Amino acid sequence: MRALVTGGAGFIGSHLCEALLARGDAVFVLDDLSTGRFENIEHLPALECIIDTVLNQDIVRDLVRDVDVVYHLAATVGVQLVVNHPVQTIVNNIRGTEIVLEETCRYRRKLLLTSTSEVYGKGTGEVFSEDDDRVIGPTHLIRWCYAASKAIDEFLALAYWREKRHPIVVARLFNTVGPRQTGRYGMVIPTLVSQALRAEPLTVYGDGQQSRCFTYVGDVVPALLTLMTRSDVNGEVYNIGSNQRVTIEALAHKIIERTGSKSSIKYVPYGEAYGPGYEDMRHRAPCLKKIRAAIGYEPRTLLDAILDSVIDDLRMRMKTT
Ligand code: UDP
Repeated sequence: MRALVTGGAGFIGSHLCEALLARGDAVFVLDDLSTGRFENIEHLPALECIIDTVLNQDIVRDLVRDVDVVYHLAATVGVQLVVNHPVQTIVNNIRGTEIVLEETCRYRRKLLLTSTSEVYGKGTGEVFSEDDDRVIGPTHLIRWCYAASKAIDEFLALAYWREKRHPIVVARLFNTVGPRQTGRYGMVIPTLVSQALRAEPLTVYGDGQQSRCFTYVGDVVPALLTLMTRSDVNGEVYNIGSNQRVTIEALAHKIIERTGSKSSIKYVPYGEAYGPGYEDMRHRAPCLKKIRAAIGYEPRTLLDAILDSVIDDLRMRMKTT
């Protein structure tokens, strides 16, 4: 198989490329290196990397024509980046996906669209199923533009399936973590681990009682590969995540313990962290019934092991920079 991975130099994309190459696929990456980093893929000389944006339709067309399948991961992600660059977020995420859909449909190449648990918004439920209603905040609260842009991407992909029978599948990823994820754009685990390794206070936003379920990237990638090979999943949306719920405060304590750091915890009001009017999700966990039934998905890596892998990775990177 020949696969195109948009956003292949990013955190999840680079792990996906590794897995594709390991099973013998030819891999092409399209990445503008806005949040992706060349270092994420430089250990993979077999892949071909084109440094450009998914907004360049001519490039996307040329690449799509020459492959069998497309994994579309390129997007503006990370709360901090979204809040600071809302125009880039909206245009990249909506127009970028529109172009990828136009071109994959033109050549009939199956497309896997990576979406996000953010699309569930601030629903008061704690466990989210694919068919649940979505509750998105008002348009003047800019953080919601990310959720809205990814929801439009999903609508568009599903519309292509419905109207044109273009083979697509949507993977809604919940808080995926692991080596190579950077804290630069706000993601909590690499941020707190870096702080712990530098013996700085760990910044816990709000009261720290909000909870998340963190999934190891190594458990996510095989699910993406399987969704791509199975035609009976086309036109469907699947949650991918884990059920290991942890509050952010407990997470911070765990990180201090596992790094052996002398850091303390500093509670930071949301307004200070993200600007005024920020709305956080209190709890978020995936219902995994649908993906379990479809492909037998089961997340296996425990939180402690996930944290250790991130700690090792960041320790190594801090030594080399
Ligand atoms: N968070 C935190 N300290 C940080 C970064 C994030 O307490 O330095 C919190 C954030 O407010 C949220 C949770 O950790 O409640 C997860 O944040 P992240 O941005 O990783 O993912 P989200 O679930 O918000 O998409």
